[in-house]
Amino acid sequence: MADIRQFTTLKARLYPNEAQAELFEKTFGCCRYIWNRMLADQQRFYLETDTHFIPTPAKYKKEAPFLTEVDNQALIQEHNKLSQAFRVFFKKPECFGYPNFKRKKHDRDSFTACNHEFASGPTIYIIKDGLRMTKAGIIKAKFPRRPRNGWKLKRVTVDRTRSGKYYAYILYEYAVKEPEPVVPAPETTVGLKYSMRHFYAADNGELADPPQWLRQSQEKLANIQRRLSRMQPGSKNYQGMVHKYRLLHEHIANQRRDFIHKESRRIANAWDAVCVRGDDLAELSRNPNRGSAAMDGYGAFRECLRYKLERQGKALIAVDRYAPTSRTCSGCGMVLDSAVSYKRRLWTCPKCGAVHDREVNAAKNIKAEGLAQYQRTRKRKAA
Ligand SMILES: [Zn+2]
Repeated sequence: MADIRQFTTLKARLYPNEAQAELFEKTFGCCRYIWNRMLADQQRFYLETDTHFIPTPAKYKKEAPFLTEVDNQALIQEHNKLSQAFRVFFKKPECFGYPNFKRKKHDRDSFTACNHEFASGPTIYIIKDGLRMTKAGIIKAKFPRRPRNGWKLKRVTVDRTRSGKYYAYILYEYAVKEPEPVVPAPETTVGLKYSMRHFYAADNGELADPPQWLRQSQEKLANIQRRLSRMQPGSKNYQGMVHKYRLLHEHIANQRRDFIHKESRRIANAWDAVCVRGDDLAELSRNPNRGSAAMDGYGAFRECLRYKLERQGKALIAVDRYAPTSRTCSGCGMVLDSAVSYKRRLWTCPKCGAVHDREVNAAKNIKAEGLAQYQRTRKRKAA
């Protein structure tokens, strides 16, 4: 089988010195500036001529000479990002909004630069305890993971968190042999149902419970929020509490990411195929009756699962979200007229008398439907 290209991102903490931090601040600002200028000109041009065109960053350098003080690659990336934002907007305007102007208050402080391999060497590379970038030079860095032999550094995104920490997201490309497709059997396939209470329920009755510490951190966060609401905005105590809030917020995001990665890794290794419901996640998270944070987590979880399975030649099977998976008896196939209320944990099938856990029963149906769907597509492909 042929080689396929894969990408992976390593995260590193950066410790810029004063001059480097200043350069980063400047770069964040220049990136916002160039994005907004290009977007304004695109809009003007579109109104005047009815054609879509984004000027390149070079056009602005004469009138805004400060742009030459930062890495030109970062500005070029803003052009690429804006072009991409328009591409997806033109393609699917119902999913992707019209590109917005960037504001310091609301948008992330970040910039991206691509690596270029010159005869004299690459423009971006890492050493034992540092990251080398154009203009900034070598920035002190800590790497929790290191790239393997043969990985090619493609680009770096530098990001400043709200609490003032700097991170680099380093994208690598590497080649792997395309895996042989794994054909799922019922005993090596698992069905998962999203669950508010347990994150997910599996058809074999297994329930994932986000670890206790995640809940504890969330309680702490709510506590700080309550205290903040009683404090005088702008006071020293208030500022300190805001900083605490941001730190904890980041901590929770890290905990959640960690949980999602470990859990998806575990499932992708243990099973040959995973069936889930093809929920429209965006739609569900808009529903105020459901936790949007939990839903975001589940969406990320599914995405992690998908690529971890794909890398092993395994399939994530998304079941039609209109299939009546939550009101069908997995024992006798009887379909109820209406859904079982999500407030009820157990229900009894009126036809065969089986007592079902609502979520586990749905997971069983998701698995059966997923496998049937897989067979149908396979037959169609063979024909
Ligand atoms: Zn039944």
